[in-house]
Amino acid sequence: MDTVTAARTWTQQQASAEKRDVWTAMKRGFFCRCPRCGEGKLFRAFLKVDNHCSACGLDFTPHRADDLPAYLVIVIVGHIVVPAALWIETHYAPAVWLQLTVYLSFTLVASLLLLQPVKGAVVGLQWALRMHGFDENATDEISPG
Ligand SMILES: [Zn+2]
Repeated sequence: MDTVTAARTWTQQQASAEKRDVWTAMKRGFFCRCPRCGEGKLFRAFLKVDNHCSACGLDFTPHRADDLPAYLVIVIVGHIVVPAALWIETHYAPAVWLQLTVYLSFTLVASLLLLQPVKGAVVGLQWALRMHGFDENATDEISPG
């Protein structure tokens, strides 16, 4: 039996690993806080995740949010704007220039406002599920870098 197979086997040490609540971690990430302690800031710039938590020292570098936050924001904003646009068009039919001004402005502002919280929630989800490098028991099979 090689070491990779042995590392995937259930052990007492893995069973007693720290419990990570998915919703709490996602909520803390949504509010741009560390998914583990909820105190330290998650971001050092608009969409730049900090290297580690300033309060508890959790290493954030293993996160791999990639494009998922952008896809989720498109889904969320699209499910607000499209039904609203259809309903307003069928009931009031305002001028096209007015509709475009309102819908495009709302889409831009809502997307910018949601992008950071959604990315924080995705990082919280990855931490809670021990994805990528957030699993301290993981082998070096997949390099986080
Ligand atoms: Zn922390």
